[in-house]
Amino acid sequence: MTATVGTDHLIRPHGGQLLERTGPRPEGVEELETIVLTSREMSDLDMLASGALSPLQGFMGRVDYERVVEEMRLASGLPWALPVCLAVDEAPRGDEVALADKAGRPLAVLEVEEVYDYDRQREAERCFRTTDADHPGVARLYAQKPSYLAGRVTVFERREPEFPELALDPADTRARFAERGWRRVVGFQTRNPIHRAHEYLTKGALETVDGLLVHPLVGETKSDDVPAETRVECYRVLLESYYPADRVVLASFPAAMRYAGPREAIWHAICRKNYGCSHFIVGRDHAGVGSYYGTYDAQLIFDEFESHELDIEPMFFEHAFYCRACGQMATPKSCPHGGDDHVFLSGTKVRELLADGQLPPEEFSRPEVAEVLIAAYQPS
Ligand SMILES: [Zn+2]
Repeated sequence: MTATVGTDHLIRPHGGQLLERTGPRPEGVEELETIVLTSREMSDLDMLASGALSPLQGFMGRVDYERVVEEMRLASGLPWALPVCLAVDEAPRGDEVALADKAGRPLAVLEVEEVYDYDRQREAERCFRTTDADHPGVARLYAQKPSYLAGRVTVFERREPEFPELALDPADTRARFAERGWRRVVGFQTRNPIHRAHEYLTKGALETVDGLLVHPLVGETKSDDVPAETRVECYRVLLESYYPADRVVLASFPAAMRYAGPREAIWHAICRKNYGCSHFIVGRDHAGVGSYYGTYDAQLIFDEFESHELDIEPMFFEHAFYCRACGQMATPKSCPHGGDDHVFLSGTKVRELLADGQLPPEEFSRPEVAEVLIAAYQPS
């Protein structure tokens, strides 16, 4: 475990302490039965290694799993919104197995605790609020192997991060926050390029706290989302040009998208608490996909917990737009004018403009960000 000296003033990790599951490579790993992880399981393993999933120390056993699925709580009663499970075909023979990446390279050892069956339909219904196989998270669940293998993991080789300079573990972000003298930090989850609307939300939140963690998800997403490297470049140019450097940390969030909407909003908030965030921005349809979730479901679900249980404070935001009558960015909460005064472009319209090499209006997108996107949309 990494000591977190000098960061005691920050919010405590979920469950009280950061539990990092890393350790030296044990002898004889090559002889162990090996399980090759899916990309989602790889992301979960890496987050177990870093302590981002504290207090979990491995893939969930049945008692935790059942209570999470039914009640959004671990067996201990601590809030936890989504299963973190390893799917296998059958029970391993030994007491330990090696966990390997796609190439078969072992990264971790799992101490076998139990193997149990699960009901995919019920997990889908409870966690995704739908059993529709067209939902990308449900589709992935349905394609999984039939049993879950539970046990504590020790990761001896971290996977190669896609963006090494953005790969900050919870202990690292906590150290950065402490160095800057921040106590109250708001986390912003995103998987899309940041346009003026998101800039407005993050800056609105930043006005009330000490610092902002821009924490884009770089784990696996649907193939039609904007590629991670393009998005990261957008964040860089936006932060460089429009945010004070001493108030923002940009780091990658290594989770795989589950598209579980409301439950994923809770899960994302808990993870950010481990990274040291005291506040977390939850927009409309956070972590949603298609029309599976109601506009405010991801905000309303926070009411299912007492605020002290989560500790991290959600900050709820409406969609923002530029209003010509107000002469500034606003939301339906703060602007009385009608849609004709609002600069609104659909995602489709924006993509059309960019693909055509045209800058969207400056009220919608910063030109620096639009330039990055235009370059990415041009045929290579
Ligand atoms: Zn207005």
